[in-house]
Amino acid sequence: MGWFPVCDAAAGIRVRAVPAHFPSGAASVYRPAGCLFLIKARDDRECGVKMGNSAAYRIGHGYDLHRLEDRAPAGPGRPLIVGGMTLDWPRGPISHSDGDVLYHALVDGMMGALAMPDIGQMFPDNAAENDGRDSREFVIEAVRRVREAGWCVINVDATVILEKPRIGPVKDTMRANIAGLLGIDVGAVNVKGKSHERVDAVGEGRAVEAHVVVLLTRT
Ligand SMILES: [Zn+2]
Repeated sequence: MGWFPVCDAAAGIRVRAVPAHFPSGAASVYRPAGCLFLIKARDDRECGVKMGNSAAYRIGHGYDLHRLEDRAPAGPGRPLIVGGMTLDWPRGPISHSDGDVLYHALVDGMMGALAMPDIGQMFPDNAAENDGRDSREFVIEAVRRVREAGWCVINVDATVILEKPRIGPVKDTMRANIAGLLGIDVGAVNVKGKSHERVDAVGEGRAVEAHVVVLLTRT
């Protein structure tokens, strides 16, 4: 529940915010000495329903983490693939699919913006057809669902948190990979690489994380 003041500034009416304690739908003219306050109720719950379904934009956030283990034959880790790039590193993700943490977060960002089922619901990790599956296929399916619902991606801002190896040399290629899959300009895709300052599992090289923020607009 919120309230906002409405006034005619040209008429010299002083306006200031007042505490919200009026019932929903109420409107009131409040006249303390020398001032006029026209207070109109705004039902944020109603706003959330109406605007959420008719708004021109939706924003989504995706997050993913994979544990990293030694790669075969020393251990069960898969090749380390991030943003469609295979990184030369002796440790890789434990995952049912190819474990591309950036693509997985990207899918959840798009699906989250539209309150659609997440990647785990779309592609269960106990389904045989998803074993070792190329995560590009997950992104392609997410994009198909976004477009089918009447939306398109405006821009993507992603952060990959990986102690080693550093992704700096290949992050522009990751950007291009994402832009190609989404059908948008590479200038609308950002990928940042961060370390975890040698702290916790990610900082000790035992995991990789990704955060992705996605902005959608109606087609
Ligand atoms: Zn994942």
